[in-house]
Amino acid sequence: MDYEAVIGLETHVQLKTRSKMWCGCANEFGAPPNTNVCPVCLGMPGVLPVANEEALRLTALTGLLLNCTVSRVAKFDRKNYFYPDVPKNYQITQYAQPSTMNGYMDFEFNGRISRVRITRAHLEEDVGKNFHFERNSGVDFNRAGVPLLEIVSEPDITGADMAYEYLNALKDILVYGVVSDCDMEKGMVRCDVNVSVRPRGAQEFGAKIEIKNMNSFSGVRKALEYEIPRQIEVLKSGGKLSQSTRRWDDVTGVTEEMRTKEHAHDYRYFPEPDLMPFEPTDEWLTEVRKRVVELPLARKQRFMRNYQLPASDAQTFVWDVPLGDYFEKIAKQAKNPKAVANWVINNLRAKMTEANERSRRGNEADVSLTAVNPPPHMTLANLKFKPDAILELVGLVENKTISTAIAQQVFNAMFDTGESPAAIVREKGLAQVSDTSAIEKFCDEVIAANPGPVSDFRKGRAAALNFLKGQVMKLSKGKANPNLVGEILERKLKQP
Ligand SMILES: [Zn+2]
Repeated sequence: MDYEAVIGLETHVQLKTRSKMWCGCANEFGAPPNTNVCPVCLGMPGVLPVANEEALRLTALTGLLLNCTVSRVAKFDRKNYFYPDVPKNYQITQYAQPSTMNGYMDFEFNGRISRVRITRAHLEEDVGKNFHFERNSGVDFNRAGVPLLEIVSEPDITGADMAYEYLNALKDILVYGVVSDCDMEKGMVRCDVNVSVRPRGAQEFGAKIEIKNMNSFSGVRKALEYEIPRQIEVLKSGGKLSQSTRRWDDVTGVTEEMRTKEHAHDYRYFPEPDLMPFEPTDEWLTEVRKRVVELPLARKQRFMRNYQLPASDAQTFVWDVPLGDYFEKIAKQAKNPKAVANWVINNLRAKMTEANERSRRGNEADVSLTAVNPPPHMTLANLKFKPDAILELVGLVENKTISTAIAQQVFNAMFDTGESPAAIVREKGLAQVSDTSAIEKFCDEVIAANPGPVSDFRKGRAAALNFLKGQVMKLSKGKANPNLVGEILERKLKQP
């Protein structure tokens, strides 16, 4: 029998706010343990939480980015459990009436657009972090009370690779929306995976198995690559699966059972008595709506459609937003946007990377200088030439004033000096030679100097022509019109 996997993901994302969810403590990474804490986030008796409005805005914004309905009445609930890193012994979350519900996310997978429905995106607070040392353990509460968004998907994901692409696309959307930095290294994105298997085409779900606390997307993929065949194997060999929670061990590469359904937590949810329901006004929602941005996939499709770019170029401009915006400014006036994209991606980006790399190495060599006065980074804003110069350069190649090879030289010069391409061509005498008599002379010289290749060509070795053409180009210092060189050379060589 053939089996299929059914996967749903619960993704926890740290929101990009200045302060924590219920108090004024800083929401920052890397502070010494227990320095960003106060009586509220330490769960002292008698304190009252005050909701962080920016976190509520970011939650509503995420709902809009994920095509969700934003609730006109959202409530907070207590999720009760005892654990050393939970100072209040409960976590405030949105259980019964979350801020946003019923959306979907489209993303590219296997060369097609896949859609995963979003059940809900709700607000909650993070807990502290336990540390275990050789002789004792400690808890850092800096993270306790940091606003978290939990994005719950419907079980629409069918495999490990699809889960991986979903998570990457979700991360891209949240970064684009400036909802979260999604820095995996800093634990800003964590994920619980629900996975079951069933005979292909069956309507009923199999036993749901949850893999908890994944902190990398590749980990999720690896865990699923292990877990799905494991479940299928159990069923095939006549065994039974039951609802349970497992953990992924990245070192051994296996999932291990943590607890079964009988030992599942009962969180005894009840409404949080210290917080009023949140009822956004029309004005408030209008302000949030203004922060909706174009999503990465929409940007990619628009770049492909409007500028006839291949997917790879468009993707580059999705990843590098400033570069894409820079390209677009020029491309809007270009007859051949693809040529502009080539210059921006292959030349401009490479030159900038090279320049920044050089300045970085220079800084390392002179530590004192870096400390006092770091040299400016090469950015699109401080380029020496105007964006129009790229348009001019493309024009010079298109009207055959210069060859593509010469254009590289011109580009390097304009990158270094900021001079216009036409001026560089004029000053350095780089204009293409299309004067046939001049090219004829070069060809005659090359034919006279290379009797071997000439006779090879005449014996039918076509490749010899390219060699001779190269010699003519060299003799002309790259300035001869290559098409004319080809024509003239061939004509001369075929003459008896
Ligand atoms: Zn606090």
